[in-house]
Amino acid sequence: DLNIASFDPELWDSIQKETRRQEEHIELIASENYASPLVMEAQGSVLTNKYAEGYPGKRYYGGCEFVDEAERLAIERAKQLFGADYANVQPHSGSQANAAVYLALASPGDTILGMSLDHGGHLTHGAKVNFSGKVFNAVQYGLDPETGEIDYKQVDELAQEHKPKIIVAGFSAYSRVVDWARFREIADKVGAYLVVDMAHVSGLIAAGVYPNPVPYADACTTTTHKTLRGPRGGLIVARDNPEITKKFQSLIFPGTQGGPLMHVIAAKAVAFKEALGSDFGAYQQRVVDNARAMAKTVQERGYNVVSGGTDNHLFLIDLVDKGLTGKDADAALGEAHITVNKNTVPNDPQSPFVTSGLRIGTPAITTRGFDTEDASQLAHWICDVLDNISDQGVISRVREQVVDICRRKPVYQANQG
Ligand code: PLP
Repeated sequence: DLNIASFDPELWDSIQKETRRQEEHIELIASENYASPLVMEAQGSVLTNKYAEGYPGKRYYGGCEFVDEAERLAIERAKQLFGADYANVQPHSGSQANAAVYLALASPGDTILGMSLDHGGHLTHGAKVNFSGKVFNAVQYGLDPETGEIDYKQVDELAQEHKPKIIVAGFSAYSRVVDWARFREIADKVGAYLVVDMAHVSGLIAAGVYPNPVPYADACTTTTHKTLRGPRGGLIVARDNPEITKKFQSLIFPGTQGGPLMHVIAAKAVAFKEALGSDFGAYQQRVVDNARAMAKTVQERGYNVVSGGTDNHLFLIDLVDKGLTGKDADAALGEAHITVNKNTVPNDPQSPFVTSGLRIGTPAITTRGFDTEDASQLAHWICDVLDNISDQGVISRVREQVVDICRRKPVYQANQG
């Protein structure tokens, strides 16, 4: 019997070590989650073999009748999940969904207005190092330093001043509810398209625990692997507007991609079916409850949380007043088997490689069965490490407790499949 273990022991060793890392570490990276065995089964299927350039019923290759069925299932489920009239399930990633949508709604050189990376936006929202900041004239808005919330007045003023073709709302590191209606209003005043990148919160939105931007936006883009808990990939959804959805179709294929990843599209279909199931809403509510429980505990332990709390799956710890850097905090927690990521905070005195903050997210721990008590306990362990950042004794005590709870709450045994 040929398998990876016998054919390629070197690679198998890496896979085994990564499996073990995932089981024995607590994952708090806000953009990560654990896909179900069913999602992975679809992704490991023979659909990987099929070329299917084009769309269901209009392909450039023969033999597409069954992958057409799979793609149609994914499309219908995505539309149902987000109350949308249109869905394109082919984007290979969140970045590619954004590239296609921007190029459908604007031309190279046009102005786009998005949230800056260091205030919680994503690279694809106009960062200089990204295609979005190179191909377009990117103008960036940010947070109100007093409240830690989006500075809508600044968005309005920048929109009036620069008359962008597209306004991008959405984020990678923001813990509050975004006022989609307010963005729509600002966009309408200057005749801009509104693109909502809901990548981080699309699972919460699908479950109805975070406001749905679809009624307000000209296009919503998302990844499928974060709170939505599907395979790595992207998705575009929108209301009925054939004039622009036609452009999204052609900007994904042939505009920016070739053959779709049919096995990933099948895995998206499985994930969407899971998200339409009766227990997904309760899961997403627990994700938010766990984030709130953790934020409350770290605040009680004397740590600042940006904007004072959270309404979603993540929050940011501001370490400026503690004299700690995000880089050192991230490294110490890593030694204790707690995986987080360093993150800039508003008015961060440190460089983006060092930072003064941590981003903490609860989708993954909630999938493996953490409740609010576990979440609060975990927040205490994090504070124990941060209070004693160079004390190896504290770090190893926390690591033992982390490994113990990880054994009691396995990712891929009791809770899944
Ligand atoms: N948009 C947002 C808001 C994100 O947070 C991310 C990923 O972190 C992306 C887009 C990009 O997704 P991908 O990594 O699939 O290109």
